[in-house]
Amino acid sequence: MRSGAGTNQEAVRRHNLGTLLGHVHRLGRISRASLTTTMELNRSTIAGLVGELEALGLAEQAAPVASRNGAGRPSPDVVPRADGAYVLAVDVGVSGLEVARVGLGGEVLARVSAPIPASRTPEATVEAVVALLRDVVGDASAGSALVGVGVSVPGLVRRSDGLVRLAPNLGWTDLPFGEVLAERLGALADVRVGNDADLGALAEHVRGAGLDDADLIYLSGEVGVGAGIILDGHHLGGGGGYAGEIGHLQMDPAGQLCHCGNCGCWETQIGAPAIAKAVGCPHDQVASLGEFLAGMEEPNDALRQVGHDLGRGIASAVNLLNPRVVVLGGYLRPLYRLVREEVDTTLHSHALVAPREQVRVTLPALGADTVLVGAAEMAFAPLLQDPVAVLSHAATDVDRIFAGSA
Ligand SMILES: [Zn+2]
Repeated sequence: MRSGAGTNQEAVRRHNLGTLLGHVHRLGRISRASLTTTMELNRSTIAGLVGELEALGLAEQAAPVASRNGAGRPSPDVVPRADGAYVLAVDVGVSGLEVARVGLGGEVLARVSAPIPASRTPEATVEAVVALLRDVVGDASAGSALVGVGVSVPGLVRRSDGLVRLAPNLGWTDLPFGEVLAERLGALADVRVGNDADLGALAEHVRGAGLDDADLIYLSGEVGVGAGIILDGHHLGGGGGYAGEIGHLQMDPAGQLCHCGNCGCWETQIGAPAIAKAVGCPHDQVASLGEFLAGMEEPNDALRQVGHDLGRGIASAVNLLNPRVVVLGGYLRPLYRLVREEVDTTLHSHALVAPREQVRVTLPALGADTVLVGAAEMAFAPLLQDPVAVLSHAATDVDRIFAGSA
């Protein structure tokens, strides 16, 4: 029988194993010497943990890329094995579905996209997602372990269980999308659901424009507008996980009616329909708004106004939260290229000097992939907590997973 101390030691070892794997996953390549320093453990403990990750098929050792300063043998590098474990990432957008198979280390191994079914019903959407998942797992190597599925949804997602409380632009209310998808996959994969802006913030914080910033706001500008907020390195979710609905701050009491029932919400000023109206993009072609904006050389007056409105909202967020970086995602990406001057001018005149001096407004370093990468990171989280436990029940036989879905 195990003693309490033994059990405790085992828990510490598994925790260290997950922490070490987290470093390897995020950095892609790190020397054993750096791991020793970073984790404040001795060399033999690190060597043991690395050996265990090798045995699990999650990492391998490689000769150092360049010789390092100092005497003695250079320490070997540790690199993740992208084919050792992978996740499936799903971005459910208002107009399209993006699905990727992402290997340990963050490498996108396969990706496909498709329009969202016209009905946008949960049933049809799940079927379309399963078909795309089947496409991306097709080339997974034998023995590669599926360790999770991460789904991004543009709506209010309950943190405790991933229930989609409201996705107004999909017409979903109180939908257990993750549960339905997991059931459809034969319950062989852990499915997690998150809000698109939250996942955008996570991705840009872990791998993108906010890599070195503990305080970051990711603004997701789609049909709706939301914010993913990271303060002091921690995601700010609020009581139920619903924090960040910045698109419903009232900016103009006499403004346009919002779907939430109020007038003049920020998203009525800077959401995709507002941008489309400003540039004369037909209502039924909002999905191609990105191309519309990319084709413009100069902003017109209406678009300049959208830029000022964007700057004013960012100023409020800067005054409230004192972020170091504000990342503009979704349609705000092509928009900012055109109205940068308006955004910056209005931010300058509306934000308080002290927090404004500390903030930079920027585009996502991960480009259009930000939300998908965030969904993958969410799905990897359990593996990075306890690799042994997750691998012990992970599926390696993808044919079996999709056997019932052909
Ligand atoms: Zn509203």
